[in-house]
Amino acid sequence: MNLELFPTELQIPPPVNINPGEWKVKLRSTQPLAISLVHEQLLAGKKRIIICAPCGFGKSIVACRYIERSLAKGKSPWFVVDRQNLVTQLSGKLAFYEIDHGVFMAGSWRFNAKKPCQVASVQTLESRGWDYTADILLYDEAHILRKSFIEFVEKNPDVVVIGFTATPFHKEIGKVYQAVVNPTTVNKQIEEGFLTPLRIFQCVAADMTGAKITAGEWAENEVKTRGQKIIGDIVTTWQEKTTEIFGGPVKTIVFSANIAHGQEIVDAFAASGFNFKLLTGKDDSEEKDAIIEEFRKENQQYDGLVSCGVLTRGFDVTDIQCGIDARPLRKSFSEFIQKIGRTQRCHTWSDGRKKDFGLWLDHANNVGRFLPEMLELWENGVSSLADPPDAKPPRKEPTPKEKDKIFCPKCHQLWTVKGDTCPCGYKRPKKQSTMETVAGTMREVVLNHVKLANSRRELWEQIVTYVQYHGKPETAEQRAYHNYRDMTGSKPPREWQDEFYTIPFVTISRAVKNEFTRKAIAYHKSRQ
Ligand SMILES: [Zn+2]
Repeated sequence: MNLELFPTELQIPPPVNINPGEWKVKLRSTQPLAISLVHEQLLAGKKRIIICAPCGFGKSIVACRYIERSLAKGKSPWFVVDRQNLVTQLSGKLAFYEIDHGVFMAGSWRFNAKKPCQVASVQTLESRGWDYTADILLYDEAHILRKSFIEFVEKNPDVVVIGFTATPFHKEIGKVYQAVVNPTTVNKQIEEGFLTPLRIFQCVAADMTGAKITAGEWAENEVKTRGQKIIGDIVTTWQEKTTEIFGGPVKTIVFSANIAHGQEIVDAFAASGFNFKLLTGKDDSEEKDAIIEEFRKENQQYDGLVSCGVLTRGFDVTDIQCGIDARPLRKSFSEFIQKIGRTQRCHTWSDGRKKDFGLWLDHANNVGRFLPEMLELWENGVSSLADPPDAKPPRKEPTPKEKDKIFCPKCHQLWTVKGDTCPCGYKRPKKQSTMETVAGTMREVVLNHVKLANSRRELWEQIVTYVQYHGKPETAEQRAYHNYRDMTGSKPPREWQDEFYTIPFVTISRAVKNEFTRKAIAYHKSRQ
């Protein structure tokens, strides 16, 4: 039945024969694209599709529109959310658009199991059993793969599942979902003003060399013990940076390793006269909600919240201006992205001021570890569910040399500025290129009719970035040389080769990445 879902309709607005009236749910910018992309996948025979989009994208509006369309086709769409309080939220949105639905939750005044559209929480479905009457499941927080859901999917392979998430990186995600679409990306959202950019600083971090490991991550207790040494730095850096950048303290969120570690951070801030509140998964949920509600207010009592694993998902306080990362991660890219995303929300205060950017103080070395993946995700989204980042081996620690390239050596801000001068005034040392080099390298680089880069220099920077995060470090320089020669037909200028370790890391374009993949496949085939 799923192939005939929305048979020919790719464009919005929909054909008049379905609903002579106006669609109630109006979409903006990239939202209709999300639905078209899902439609393409359905036509290609895929049943379970991830819509990968950062927060601020408006997933509940897309979901409402999808539900509205499905109902018009006589389908039975269910929206499944990860927490009970989200059920009420989503039901409210459906009601706002006048979409008839039941709330599948005991005690709800909207409870009516006969309605084709239902909103349910996974908790309810797990206790009552997943309902088999739904044609379409719209699944929020799709990166959390519950066992009961996987079993449901195995038993019901024909049910269409549309999963929403910003981080489809779970080890097993590719076993459940068959396709991923990216209607937008973090960088696009920033461009369009739906997310703010970040100013990221590499700060003093705990040395995790040789620390014990539990379930792939550094043991919480190790993070706490080693983190104790830098707690003073956390408080001092926060005071310095917020004063320098905002003129004083701003609403802040801190990520700690465990409760004891979080408590120490709270105490350290208190000793300097700042009111931080610890929030843990163990708190009573009403108490937790009350704290978050208070924190959400514009003039509230806390300078910051310290989270022990509770604020990474769904927590949505948009006027947070500063994030402090004190929990080093070896391999959980999901957790890293969810944490950093908490400071990227847009906000307008009651006096009309707008949030321009979020400040990220990395006391965990996480940015250095996950930078290439982060830049790739922000620019291009997620291209495949195979080989998810959370299943990859631990990321290597950047060397001091690499760090000097990633962060300004003077103020330790992530080097994202174009040009050679950091906002702090530091000028990146650069060797003078000869005139011939400049003239010869300003041309676009085109290979097999595909533009790889705007200039040879740009291509060189991408290659240098790529080789340092793929393959053996000791062969990186050599591989950069050969790849450049293969792609351009000539050698990289000598002075560029000399700069190998001081060239800033850049985003690798899809075309260049594809070229690397193409070469890898060709190499592999030649060896068979
Ligand atoms: Zn600087």
